[in-house]
Parts: sequence; C-alpha cells; structure tokens
Amino acid sequence: MEASLTARDRVGIQDFVLLDPYTSETAFLENLKKRFHENLIYTYIGTLLVSVNPCHLIFMHWQTTSSAPCCLSSNNHFILISGESGAGKTEASKKILQFYAVSCPSTKLLNNVRDRLLLSNPVLEAFGNAKTLKNDNSSRFGKYMDIQFDHQGWWQSVVTFSVTCWRSHVLSTRTTERETSTSSISWWREERKNLLRWLGLERNCQHYRYLVQGDCAKVSSINDKSDWRTFSENDIEQLFGIIASVLHLGNIKFEANERGYASLNNNNQEMNWVSKLLGIPTQVLQQGLTHRKIEAKAEEVFSPFSVDHAVHLCRTFNWLVNKINESLVNKDSSRKTVIGLLDIYGFEVFNVNSFEQFCINYCNEKLQQLFIQLTLKSEQEEYEMEGIEWESVPFFNNKIICDLVEEKTQRHHLSIGRGIWRRRSLVIPHFVTHKLADQKTRKTLDRGDFRLLHYAGEVTYCVVGFLDKNNDLLYRNGKEVMRQSKNAIIKLCFPSTEPDSKRRPETVVTQFKSSLVGLTEILMSKEPWYVRCIKPNEAKQPGRFDDVLVRHQMKYLGLMEHLRVRRAGFAYRRKYEIFLQRYKALCPDTWPNWKGTAAEGVHCLVKHMGYTPDEYKMGRTKIFIRHPKTLFATEDAFQV
Ligand code: ATP
Ligand code: MG
Repeated sequence: MEASLTARDRVGIQDFVLLDPYTSETAFLENLKKRFHENLIYTYIGTLLVSVNPCHLIFMHWQTTSSAPCCLSSNNHFILISGESGAGKTEASKKILQFYAVSCPSTKLLNNVRDRLLLSNPVLEAFGNAKTLKNDNSSRFGKYMDIQFDHQGWWQSVVTFSVTCWRSHVLSTRTTERETSTSSISWWREERKNLLRWLGLERNCQHYRYLVQGDCAKVSSINDKSDWRTFSENDIEQLFGIIASVLHLGNIKFEANERGYASLNNNNQEMNWVSKLLGIPTQVLQQGLTHRKIEAKAEEVFSPFSVDHAVHLCRTFNWLVNKINESLVNKDSSRKTVIGLLDIYGFEVFNVNSFEQFCINYCNEKLQQLFIQLTLKSEQEEYEMEGIEWESVPFFNNKIICDLVEEKTQRHHLSIGRGIWRRRSLVIPHFVTHKLADQKTRKTLDRGDFRLLHYAGEVTYCVVGFLDKNNDLLYRNGKEVMRQSKNAIIKLCFPSTEPDSKRRPETVVTQFKSSLVGLTEILMSKEPWYVRCIKPNEAKQPGRFDDVLVRHQMKYLGLMEHLRVRRAGFAYRRKYEIFLQRYKALCPDTWPNWKGTAAEGVHCLVKHMGYTPDEYKMGRTKIFIRHPKTLFATEDAFQV
C-alpha cells in the first residue's frame, strides 16, 4: 500500500476525478505540474483529456484507453481539440490520427488511404500554417476531418475540409511572423536551381518583401519531396508558379504619377514574371493592379493590392484541400461510423490585434460555448439515465461576446453592446464584458480601438483595416484578372462560370459565421469528446511550468467546472467490461474468466470487495463509484 502511495505522490493521479479535495485549484495545478515534470503530459477528467505541451519530443504511448472514442461503436463521435495558440492542438490531432491508423485493422488499399492522409498533413501545413509570435507552426486555418469506419472497424476514408483560411493572411505578417507557405520553393532541393531559374526567383530569400517583412526567413523543416506524392508533377509545377508569382507581386513597386496616383512602369520585371507564370497578359495585370486609384503623396508607394495576392493563395489552398479530399474519399455508401476531428487556430493575443484575431477569437469563443452546453447536457443526460439527482454547477457564460458577432442590431455603443456589424459598417463597442465591474480598464483605450473580455482573457482590437478586410473590397477586381490566367490551378479556382452578380458578395464575417453554424450543426449531431491543450510557458521551453499561466488556462478552459460537474454525484464511472477486466483478479469467482454478463461480474466483484450500497451504484452500462477512496482501496488491494 505504501509503495503505491509513493508512486501516486510522485507522478500524481492520472484522472482528476480522483483528486482530493477536488475543488482545490492548487491541488489541481500541483497534480498537472507533477505529471508534467515526469513527462506525463496527459491527464483525464473522466473522458476529457488534458494535454500539457511538453515543448520537446517525448516517446510514449498515446494514452487513449478511456479517452478515445471507439471505431467499433455504432454512434458517431467528434473530438474537439482546444487551447490557445501554441498549446499543442495540431500535434494532438496528429497523434489521434496516428492512434487510429495503428489501432484499426488494415489492408493494402486502406494503408494507402492512411498513408496519403498522414502525408497530406505537411502539405496542408505548408500552405495553411505560419510562424507567429506564439507558435512556430501556427495553424491559420481550421481543419475538420471525418474519419469513417465500417461496422468492423475498418478505416474507410477521411473527408477533410478547412473551416476557413484568411484571404488577408499574406498581409498579416508582422515583425517576427512569417508565412511558411511562401518558403515552400526550397523543398524541391535537387531541382532547386532549375526551378528557381524557371520561376525567375533569386536564391536569397532576403530579396523578397514577403519573406523578410517577418524578419524571420528561416526555412521550414519540411523538405521531403515524398510529401507531395498526392500531386502530379504538373500540379506541382503550377503550384510553384503561383507561389513564385506571389513573391514577385510582393516586390512590385508602384510609382506615383504626376497626379499622385499609383502607376506601373511598363518594363516592370516582376510584373513580366507574374504575367508569364500565371499566363495573364501584362496589360490586363497592369490594369488590374492599378485599377483602384491610390492617392500617394510620396514618390514611391508599395502595392496596396496585397489582398489580390492573398485571394489567389487562399483559393489555391482550397484547391489543395479538394485535391487531397479526392485522393482520400471512398465512394462506398455502406453504413459507417464517423469520428470527426476538429483542430482550429487557437485563441491569440498580440500587441496589435486586427480582423484576423477577431475572427479567430470569435471562433474559439463559439466552440467554448458549445463545450459548455454539451458538457452540461451530456452530464445531465447521463445522471438522468441513471436516476441520479442533478446538482447544477455555475458556469461562465460567454453569450454576450458571441452576440457581438451574431446579433444584427446594437442598441447603443455603450459598454455592453450587441452586434457590432451593421450591414457593412462597424459599430465600435469600446469595451464589452460579461462583468460590469471590469469596465474601469476602458480608460486606457486609444481612439479606434475596442476591447473585449473573451473567455480566455482581455483583447484590444485595432479597427484599422477591419472594414476593408471584412468587405473584401478588392476581391472582385482581382477575380476578373485571375480569370484570364492560363495556370490550370488558378483556372479551376476562378471559374468563368462563377456568377459575377451585381450584388456585393457576402462579407467575410457573414461567410465565417455561416461556416461556423454549419460546423456546430455537424458537431451537435455527434457524441462529443474533448482534448483541452495547455501551454506551460510562453517561451516554448521544455521543463518550464509557469504556475500563473497554467492556472489562467485551467480557469478559462473551464477545467475546474468540468471536474465539479463530473464529481457532482459520482467521482468515477466505468463501463462494466472495462472495470471487470481491470479488477477481476481480486475475486476468486471472477478470475480468470467470468461466464455471466459483465454487469453480473462487477456485482459479484464489488460484493467480494465489501462495497457498501452507499458507495456505488449500478447503471445500465456502467458502475458509478461515489468517492475516490473506494477506488483507491480497490487499486491498493493489488499490492497486498
Ligand atoms: P495554433 O493554435 O497556433 O495552431 P497549436 O495549439 O496547434 O497552435 P501546435 O502547433 O500543436 O500548437 O504546437 C506548437 C509546438 O509545440 C509544436 O510545433 C511542437 O514543437 C510543440 N508540441 C506541441 N505538442 C507537442 C507534443 N505532444 N509533443 C512534443 N512537442 C509538442
Ligand atoms: Mg495548430
């Protein structure tokens, strides 16, 4: 008994529902910390998995025995991975995929699909991720995947789609942030020289504005040609053409003409390259690029048309996703179990936060709301099913922040507002919080800024550029130019059959909102599972556990509330089969093989262990144990 207590003291407990006292934040934090220092980065709260980013590679088995939905189950599931930027969501999603890849039965054909899926990750990341202050490999798109299994648990196929990718994300690079995507030219090492010549690119990446403006042109570690197996040589050639054209576009210098408007020199080398690479006549490009008049007092002005470049990079990304989907989808329509996996861009706060942060943080806010609703709902349902009284647990309610995006009207731009988007204009709300007491911080706001108290903390947004980015003003202009391209990918991305209605296209926020509504509906129709990721320090350093930072994340991720809900009635519950398998050696009647049902076996086992009727309850499929000490005593019986 003593030996086991010592081990528990050293490595902490593996499931927080066994924590005593379970209401103590400090005890929770200490347990996480103990485990982190032992490289035990996963800890459960019932079926929820808490993962702390180790910030270094560790070799371990993925602990999923009780926290991964079973591919043999008849229900559909989804796994929601959340946490702030750099907390380890994307890494966790890859580990989950690997887990299913190795734990399901396989055939040659299926292995092929699996391989392609695992290989598609680096390609998507190359285009969809970027280095930011928070994370060297930060997701700039949300990825939802449906992994389909047939009734025998065979992995059938995967459907991937991106939640959104920012049109303006090429623009958003700021000091020490860099777009990984534009550095992809360096992957094709052996043919690099020829390729660079063909693309008209310099070897030195310092030459390109888009690569140096982040002050961080270190090349991505992805350099394996085999990552591109999903694509034909022709596809790759066209893709590189697009990437190179983005780099060239970024270097185009505009000159101010005598009236102060931007103009382009006829013999502009960069433009000639773009024209050649995209197969768009120079005049059309030139007109497209100078179409919108720009007032420029200075002699030289840089292109304000970056959105155009971003438009085609973004569409190219969607093309990539479709291409990957085509190679992964199995058309077989037999009954399947689906496990959805969602990895999004995490909550982020920079020194200057713009439209992108606003959308990213809103998306996180929305998923937090979903988490709250579903946690309460599923617990309530489970207790009801077992005939146990429900004790309600107060939860942080972030509806007011979601309403800012979702509601059409705003009463007044006072501190508590609703709906900041009015048609295409913005009603600046100043400071919005669910707590009136927090309004004092409003004083420190600059003009044109507004501040929201998100579930994960306070963020000040700078409204400069908000409207342009939301209305996508340059979009149609760029689209017309792109339609004339001879590049096969661009042609597919900008079909001439696309309705070019006189109506203005939907705003980015409207599109974003509806894709989130769609996503929420998909998620609500499935059984939820959660992975909550925690970042142990801001410096991305191994072995460093910052108490204040972790405590903050524990709070806003709602971990204590989740634990409280789980403990409201019974601390521990397990399916009869799993419980029996674990403890059957403790009872001579159940060991080595129990002939009856698992429930009868468990009944026999707990009688033998001397559980009093008050200590446990037999549910329909599970045993419920009220206090951790009962379970600890059973565990310790192994040691005796
Ligand atoms: P974002 O919201 O910005 O996309 P994220 O939560 O997806 O962030 P990741 O990209 O998964 O964050 O993780 C950031 C970095 O932390 C990884 O590139 C990796 O170096 C390290 N990391 C995260 N999880 C693990 C892990 N389980 N093991 C080892 N390293 C990890
Ligand atoms: Mg990520």
